[in-house]
Amino acid sequence: MSDQVDVCIIGAGVVGLAIAVELAKPGRRVFILDRNRTFGLETSSHNSEVIHAGIYNPPDSLKTRFCVEGKPLLYELCEKYNIGHKRLGKIIVAADAEETREIERLYRQGIENGVNDLTLLTRAEIKRLEPNVEAVAGFLSPSTGIIDSWGLMQSFYGRARESGADFFFNTEVTGIEKTIDGFKVIVTERESISSLHATVVINAAGLFSDKIAALAGIDIDKASYRIHYCKGEYFSVDSRDKRVVERLIYPVPEQAGTGIHISLNLDGNIKLGPSARYVDAIDYSVDETSKTDFYRAAHRYLPVIQLDDLSPDFAGIRPKLQGPGAGFRDFVIADETDRGLPGLINLIGIESPGLTASPAIARYVAGMVKGKL
Ligand SMILES: Cc1cc2nc3c(=O)[nH]c(=O)nc-3n(C[C@H](O)[C@H](O)[C@H](O)COP(=O)(O)OP(=O)(O)OC[C@H]3O[C@@H](n4cnc5c(N)ncnc54)[C@H](O)[C@@H]3O)c2cc1C
Repeated sequence: MSDQVDVCIIGAGVVGLAIAVELAKPGRRVFILDRNRTFGLETSSHNSEVIHAGIYNPPDSLKTRFCVEGKPLLYELCEKYNIGHKRLGKIIVAADAEETREIERLYRQGIENGVNDLTLLTRAEIKRLEPNVEAVAGFLSPSTGIIDSWGLMQSFYGRARESGADFFFNTEVTGIEKTIDGFKVIVTERESISSLHATVVINAAGLFSDKIAALAGIDIDKASYRIHYCKGEYFSVDSRDKRVVERLIYPVPEQAGTGIHISLNLDGNIKLGPSARYVDAIDYSVDETSKTDFYRAAHRYLPVIQLDDLSPDFAGIRPKLQGPGAGFRDFVIADETDRGLPGLINLIGIESPGLTASPAIARYVAGMVKGKL
């Protein structure tokens, strides 16, 4: 590979793919590089597949902005391109009186975030909607849903290619050098090393995005770009009676995640998760010994679940900017002109709700690229 291109996107997860759709057009050379054998094999295929409403994060954050903007865009894409999805709705529940205060805070935050379809629920109202759920209070988010994330990525991939984008798999970016009018991007394809020259480089490398920023010469500790891996594991529930719940059921959130919740796949199967545990390495195995913790977490508000119903399912790794015990960190979506790197756009810490936010992030990044080509 030795080419001059307009845009080089590093990473073909859901975010890189959505950006490719926005940027690809006839007459423009857009290359997307990914180290894996195909698109979407990392975080974008190891998540809860929930279309979030925008309740959890502070009102003035990019996480909230792009989630609230991304949700209707995703539903539109699902309808238009026949992507599997269900607008199931979700209930966030308080299992005791203490959690009720957190439910009220979250509800108010949701309204402040512009999520205008939330309804507070009493114990009796929750029982009427979800007879198997035990909770003292909660609220309903009717527009939360689930999506076939693989179907979404396939659709982005096909549309980007139709518009002329070129994809290179098994291609790992191992160096980035600033040039007078852009960047030399050095890649390792299987055994051989080659390079291309790009006017604009977009770093959408997920769990590796801090390393890509470092390759471009950024001191990631000074910039607060260092990523911490936070593992989320899932257990599937063998529910003989499949209709245990009709909606997604979430507890009040914990420090590093939304809490072990109950979600449904498009085929109606139930899963519990994700947990949240900081780890040093990327490893997608599920620790079977945590089965009892999952059972206890879910049993508090869904007592029909039995320990024997649970089996280890899968895990995902959150690319978190926030380390253990640290406060809220927003998505970083940065034009690095001020660091002497005009043409480099870094997307770092794109954890949840990154799937929901992907079409809105892509539009925003396309706006940043305007005027650079
Ligand atoms: C447990 C869990 C549950 C979640 N649940 C939800 C949810 O329900 N709803 C929601 O909206 N969001 C959810 N998310 C968040 C969502 O999954 C992510 O925000 C989103 O998938 C991030 O996409 P991405 O494209 O940025 O990253 P990725 O999917 O990780 O893609 C990055 C790509 O970069 C490539 N790459 C990395 N380094 C290099 C390199 N050097 N050279 C070339 N390529 C490289 C990788 O191969 C990869 O394909 C969840 C995340 C986790 C971990």
